[in-house]
Parts: sequence; structure tokens; C-alpha cells
Amino acid sequence: MNKQSTSSSDLSHEPLEEGRRCRLIEVTIDSLAELGYVGTTLAQIAGRAGVSPGLVAHYFGDKDGLLEAAFRSLTRRVGDHVRARLRQISTPRARIQAIIDANLAPEEFDRRTGSAWLAFWGQVLQVQSLRRVQSVYQRRTLTNLRSSLKKLVPTDEAQNLAAMIAAMIDGVWLRAALSGWHEADSESARALLTEFVDGRLKDRGHTAHGTAGGASKAGERAAAPAAGERFASINPATGEILGYAIVAGPAQIDAAVRAAQLGQVKWAAMTGAERARVLRRAAQLLRSRNQELAELESRDTGKPIQETSVVDVISGADCFEYFASLAQSLSGEHIDLGPQAFGYTRREPLGVVAGIGAWNYPLQIACWKAAPALACGNAMIFKPAELTPLSAVKLQEILLEAGLPPGAFQVVQGFADTGRLLTRHPGIRKISLTGEVGTGKAVMSDASQTLKNVTLELGGKSPLIIFEDAKLDNAVAGALLANFYSSGQVCSNATRVFVHRSVKADFIERLVKRVSAMRIGDPMDPATQVGPLVSEQHMHKVLGYIARGRAEGARLIIGGNRVTSGDLGRGYFVAPTVFDDCRDDMAIVREEIFGPVMSVLEFADEREVIERANATEFGLAAGVFTNDLTRGHRVIAQLQAGTCWINHYNVTPIELPFGGVKMSGLGRENGRAALEHYTQLKSVYVAMGDVDAPY
Ligand code: NDP
Repeated sequence: MNKQSTSSSDLSHEPLEEGRRCRLIEVTIDSLAELGYVGTTLAQIAGRAGVSPGLVAHYFGDKDGLLEAAFRSLTRRVGDHVRARLRQISTPRARIQAIIDANLAPEEFDRRTGSAWLAFWGQVLQVQSLRRVQSVYQRRTLTNLRSSLKKLVPTDEAQNLAAMIAAMIDGVWLRAALSGWHEADSESARALLTEFVDGRLKDRGHTAHGTAGGASKAGERAAAPAAGERFASINPATGEILGYAIVAGPAQIDAAVRAAQLGQVKWAAMTGAERARVLRRAAQLLRSRNQELAELESRDTGKPIQETSVVDVISGADCFEYFASLAQSLSGEHIDLGPQAFGYTRREPLGVVAGIGAWNYPLQIACWKAAPALACGNAMIFKPAELTPLSAVKLQEILLEAGLPPGAFQVVQGFADTGRLLTRHPGIRKISLTGEVGTGKAVMSDASQTLKNVTLELGGKSPLIIFEDAKLDNAVAGALLANFYSSGQVCSNATRVFVHRSVKADFIERLVKRVSAMRIGDPMDPATQVGPLVSEQHMHKVLGYIARGRAEGARLIIGGNRVTSGDLGRGYFVAPTVFDDCRDDMAIVREEIFGPVMSVLEFADEREVIERANATEFGLAAGVFTNDLTRGHRVIAQLQAGTCWINHYNVTPIELPFGGVKMSGLGRENGRAALEHYTQLKSVYVAMGDVDAPY
């Protein structure tokens, strides 16, 4: 909504008069958009607004006064939006992004607003009062950009870069306006600017903010708060601050490692049965606090309570129960070496291990790492993702209450730097990371300096193959589970849905019917099925991919937009989106989007689809829907993926190992396989006779 003008003719503060003034300004913007500067006259505005020209003159003086008020109204709107965004963010790179995002936001990038701006800009050189408004607006943008850039690059460079960014904002906008808004949209414009800024900062050695998808990566802040500083956790449904956490630096990590070493010795000295009792108690506590923890998780992540109350906490509790049983039955091997000797192996803990979590399933990830680590007698230091720091702290409380020795499970908070302190610490023997492929590589490289074990649960771009003989309603349900749970922020999602040519039309029809019935809304409402994405920046990344999908020629059949109706405008909601007629070379088909975006691809035969499904660097998961049992197994055996489903998708019982191949990761979580990653074998040779030495 446009705000009131502050022009010199602005004398009245009566609400009625104020309403009239705003209405006249709106009408002026409409007129500028339709008729341009020349066609917009006082009489014409008065006629459109249904008031007398005298009244318009009473409020604004003359035509220039009216245009100045309209211009101020538009610049003020951008200013308000920039300030609102800046209030939520403290780090320099994120602040630069906020300025770009506000200036190129969809409401600034539509035909009406653009045409009005164009009309003003055409007059700026001639009309003094407009020039004043424009120079204030430009100075403000430059000052905002410079003050953030100065924290990242030297002052003179900040000056130049700020001017370049401002020029690009104007340029991209102007080009779109002059091309009749065919050449660009708000998302791709922001994606372009983000890539530019990232490129420049990267040259200076700063972490990139954006991804190939266009806009910025979720939560990444080029200059994160330093050790000892606090950072906010934000509710992505409302933008409100839920609480603060303190960044752990070297001293805190050293102290945590020392405490963990002490705790681990006590913990490992307990028998498997004793450890199992503690872990079972933790599982009971998780179950008894399910609702409270699910609500916390929903607030922190934005995931609907209908998901968190039946999956996140419960899956964590299941995991503790499962590994409690294994703690009790951990054993080595006896090896018969003949009458004179035998050997045996002991399965021993590694010592102090670290878990580093992603933001999509914060509590579940913490449990999936802590339970096997503790079952095997290790101590764990866990760092949740900076976007979702809250629930891991609750797990720490629960484990202490259950009887875990102090220090044996500790949560440290922070950004990538804190993670790095863990991966490089000589006192830590293993890292289990859930995160992106790039982070996986960095972690593995850092961990190699102290030869730590690593388990990497990384990203994916998994295929779901629907054959012509599949039960189609089940296949549609599988595709929905494979794409829209947790607003699509699931690593194993099958976002490449290959459908056999002969059933594709039918599949699409059924799919669209079900997608259009999905309820987007307040995550705390039990009826809500789709919540917001985890952060504003992540939302822009996802919207950037949607824009790219369109630009590359995929056919958008449903969704494709941010949802801002009612209160949802305060959060980061994106409608479940389906693209049809996708090609294998499109960015939306190749790259991990981590949002509610499904790409449907058509195939004709089995060999072809297997080849296409495998043509990716990722290998986390895959699914097949078919009623032909032999085909189901035959195809799955040929798919390059670590976790597969036949006639279902995304179900993850703790008993089954979970993990990826190729660039999707190393090692496995869950199942007995996890024990391999949290223990080391000691081989013992036992002689039963005399020692015969040749000396
Ligand atoms: P990131 O890789 O950005 O972050 C993961 C964690 O690693 C965060 O806690 C992060 O800190 C930390 N971190 C970042 N850089 C480093 C570093 N150099 N050294 C040590 N720690 C570091 O992933 P996201 O949080 O963005 O999660 C989304 C990704 O996770 C997706 O790719 C998704 O597929 C994947 N994922 C994989 C799963 C699996 O099981 N395979 C399951 C769930 C998600 P911070 O964010 O606080 O800065």
C-alpha cells in the first residue's frame, strides 16, 4: 500500500482527507502507467477519481505537486520495504541482499509500477522537485549498500561496488520496463544481481551468497557473527524472532571437547545394558514431550504441525529405542585359529565425535546422529544449523534428564566457522554431517588433516520412475510424498518424476487435482499441509529456480508463485509447483532446488529411463512404481542410489540404513550399518601355547 506523501502541500492529517490523498495518488500512478507523463493532467486525474479539479489542486497545488507526491509515495514504499528487511538481518552480505530484494521485489517489478517510474524518470532532468526526490532515493540506496559493503571490502572498493550494484538495479529494471516486461521478471532480476554480487565478493575471497539457482542460499551469511555474539532464530511463517543463540568460538569448542572427553570415559565404562536404559529413557521423554517439541520444531522450521507431531520427534524416539537395543547387543567376533590360538575382535567407541546438522529436520537429524554414537559409547558434540538452533538444545536437556553423564552430549551453536572448529579439532575423532555437497567436500577435506572418520549425508536430485502398469493413484501419492512434504525441503526427494508416455496425461490430471487441494497456511494449524520455506533467502532461491524453469521452456501446470494472501505475506510461502514437458538438461531437472518444485519427464522404455535416471552426479535415493515385481527389482538394481523404494516413497524406518552414493554421500545412518561408523575394531590374538622364537 502506498504511504502518504510528504510534499509541501501536505497540510491535512485528517483520516478522511488522508484517505482521499492516498486515493488520488493511486489514481495518478494508474494514469501515469496508462497515459504517461504528458497524458496525465489534473483534470484527467480528477475525472478518474470522481472529484473536482479544485480538490486535487487543494491537496497538491499543481500537476508537478501531484506527480511529486506520487513519486515520493513510490520511493517511500521501497524505503519502507528495505528498512523492514534490514531490521531482520544483521550481517553485511544479507543486508546487501535485502536491498536488492526490496528494490526488485515483485511489487516493484510489475507493469503498473514500472510504467509510473518510467514516466517520472523521463521528467527527472526537467522538473526540479522530482530531481530532489530522485537524488534522495539514490543517495539512500547507495548509503545502505556502502555501509554493508565496507564491512566486506576496502572503503574505495565499497564505493565502486555500491555504485555498480545500484546501476545494475536501475539497469535491469529499466531494461525490463523498456522491453514491456517480457525479458525479465522479479525473480530472475534478483538472481542476476545476486550472482553478480557473489562473483565480486568471491573474487575478494568472501563466501558466495547465491547458488546456480539464482538467489541466495538458505541462511548463508557471508560475514556471520563472531564467537560470543548472538544470532536470532526466526519463525519463517511470521518473520518474528523466536530467540537467540550464542556463537561458539575456539575457546568454547576446546572446553566442549574437554568436557566430552570426561563424559565419554564415564559413559563408555557403563555396560551396554546400562547405556541402553538411558537411551530408552530418552526415547520415553521424547515421546512424552512430543507435542511441545513438535510445536517448537514447527516454529523454528516452518514445517506444519501435522508433520512434526507425527514424524520428527517420533522418528527421533524410534531411533533411540532401536539403538538402545543394539547397545545391549554390541559384540565382536571370535575367530578360531586352531588349537594353539584364537582371536577376537572388540567393537570399541571412537571417543569424542561431532554431528553437524542441516535445517530441514533439526531434531530428527540430532537424534539420528546422537543415538548410534551414544549407543556405541562415544560422546557427541552437535552443532545444529544456524537457521534452526532450538530443538537440539531440548535433546541435550532430555539426555541429561535420562541419566547421560554430563558432557557426553553437548550442543554448540554457530555458523560454518563453528562447524570448521569441530572438523579441524584434533580431539574429535569423527564427523557426521548432514548438508550440501559443497559442505561435504569442505568437511572431508578439513577432517583429513587429523584423519577423522566422516559420514556425509548430502544432497540429491532423485528420480521416481512410474511405469505404465503402476497403480496410478499410488504413484501420484508417491510423487506427492516425494516432492511436497516439508515444503519440498527433503534431501531424498524425487524431484525428477519420470512417467511412462502412455499414462502421463492421466497421471498429470490426477496429480494436479490433488496438488490444487493442498492446504497452504499457518504451520501451527493442524489442517495445514504446506508451510513456509525455512527463510526468506531460501524462498528467493526456490523462486529463482521456478523463474529459470519457465525461462528454459518447462510448462508450469500449477503453482509457481509466492503465496502472500492474508497473514501469509509475513512468511516465506511458495505454492506447490509442478512443471511438465521438462528436459533432462534444464537447471530445474539437474540441480537440487530443495523446495516444492516437481519436474515431470516423459519416457518410453525401461532402458532409456534407467540411463536418464542415472545421468546425475547425485545418488541419494530413487523410487519405482510398477505392478511387475521382477521389473521393480530389476530396475532398482540398476539405479545408482543408496536408498530406494518400490511402490512407495520417502518412508524411512530406523531399521533400514539410509544414505547416498556418488556425490550424495558416504556412509550410512540408521540400521546396523550405522554401528560401523561409530565404532572401531580392535583385533586381539590370544596364544594358547609356548612362544617359539627363531633367535
Ligand atoms: P549446509 O551444507 O549449508 O549446512 C549444513 C551444516 O554444516 C550447517 O550446520 C552448517 O552451518 C554447517 N557448515 C557449513 N559449512 C561448513 C564447513 N565448512 N565446515 C563445517 N560445517 C559447515 O546445508 P543446509 O543446512 O543448507 O541443508 C540443506 C542441504 O542438506 C541440502 O543439500 C540437503 O539435500 C542436505 N540434506 C541431506 C540429508 C541427507 O540425509 N542426505 C538430509 C537433510 C538435508 P550453518 O548452516 O549453521 O552455517
